[in-house]
Amino acid sequence: MKMLQDKVAIVTGGTRGIGFATVKKFLDNGAKVVLFGTKEESVQNALNKLKINPMYEVIGMHPDITNMKEVEKAFAEVVKRYGKIDIVVNNAGISARDSLYNYTEDAFEKIIDLNIKAVFNCSKVGASYMKENGGVILNTSSMVSIYGQAAGCGYPASKFAVNGLTKSLARELGKDHIRVNAVAPGVIHTDMVDSLPEEMIKPIIDSIPIGRMGEPEDVANAFLFLASDMASFITGAILSVDGAGMC
Ligand code: NAD
Repeated sequence: MKMLQDKVAIVTGGTRGIGFATVKKFLDNGAKVVLFGTKEESVQNALNKLKINPMYEVIGMHPDITNMKEVEKAFAEVVKRYGKIDIVVNNAGISARDSLYNYTEDAFEKIIDLNIKAVFNCSKVGASYMKENGGVILNTSSMVSIYGQAAGCGYPASKFAVNGLTKSLARELGKDHIRVNAVAPGVIHTDMVDSLPEEMIKPIIDSIPIGRMGEPEDVANAFLFLASDMASFITGAILSVDGAGMC
């Protein structure tokens, strides 16, 4: 029996990086997965990469998850197709590096909209479908939700809020058998990190006690565990997946 056999999962930001690795991990473990991305093209690219396994039951959508009405419509389509939603992974997110002096109001609002409001939207609509039979909500937080970050304050502020949503919704939704947890990744080897120069990356790696960056699969493994019944008494947790590194 696979760990997520017959579960139906939605993964936001599922087209690349941590989200894509999570989609693949869930599919390998028996789930039916709906991946969300920003554009039809990136969603299609991700689906094409998953064609390697014809047994995968996966579809893609690109709703604007910062808009409650679009989230309601997309989730309703998932339920129409698969009959239920068991797991929602709120993973889509953007980061920021601007100093406070250059940080614009628009840029701040954009990060709050995606990194917090979309988590609220998808949790609210997801929970409404889980209320009868229980379910799991998982959020991608960050190590900066513990340490802060010396630039781009909107990003750590948004991830502190993700932790707040995680702990509060865990307390509110426990009675409905809905577990809510977050994973707080450290430096993870995604496209974003690959685009940085070697001289910037080396000192970061040197500062990680375990001696390497995390891989998207390291985070996906944590999500798999938290989504599965093996974590049935774990809720409200913020699980660090960071090799004990500090930013
Ligand atoms: P990524 O840039 O590779 O992927 C981001 C995903 O979010 C993509 O699938 C993209 O389509 C989606 N996305 C971006 N803007 C969107 C929007 N406006 N609406 C809907 N979806 C949108 O990034 P990643 O590194 O895989 O990051 C995934 C999550 O992990 C984010 O929440 C990020 O904050 C968090 N995180 C990443 C790291 C890291 O080192 N990579 C560390 C800690 C936390």
